[in-house]
Amino acid sequence: MILPATCYLIALGSNQRHNIFGRPEHIISAARAALEQQGLHILKQSKTVSSRPIGPSHRRYANSAAIIETALSPVPLLNLLKRIESRFGTRKGQAWSRRVLDLDIILWSEGAFSASYPPLTIPHPMMRERPFVLQPAAEIAAKWRDPISGLTIAQIAARHSRP
Ligand code: ADP
Ligand code: MG
Repeated sequence: MILPATCYLIALGSNQRHNIFGRPEHIISAARAALEQQGLHILKQSKTVSSRPIGPSHRRYANSAAIIETALSPVPLLNLLKRIESRFGTRKGQAWSRRVLDLDIILWSEGAFSASYPPLTIPHPMMRERPFVLQPAAEIAAKWRDPISGLTIAQIAARHSRP
């Protein structure tokens, strides 16, 4: 069955050098090319921003966001994103540790979704707490509404930029 294409907001993150692509910022650019190569059409992309490291890894992160269009439903999309991540290198240790590339599904044009295998929750459960996701997301999807809180990305991001 061919489904009409839907849109997803994707967060791209990196905090480790790659032996060919180099610095995290360059890994993000290479990751965008890999998304397109896999047929995930990028409708909008944010600037890539560096942020101070959070958690035990003490590294700089490069983060970006993209709106992609695809006919894939959430689980096949997550599986494809995981395959792209692993082509950039696998990660040792816990979440928040070093990783060459992290691709997360933040929002879906069709609303909320959840699956238990593989574990997948849309909106991404941590998105409201992560400035490094919200800031790039607000640049390209300011008016996109989080179906859980009812707030727009711009409104959620603004909470974090207040002193
Ligand atoms: P995070 O990206 O939250 O820092 P990980 O990259 O280590 O953490 O993700 C671990 C697992 O989280 C993934 O293997 C995936 O199955 C699950 N997951 C749940 N919801 C999502 C989502 N919206 N996007 C990506 N992964 C998700
Ligand atoms: Mg992830």
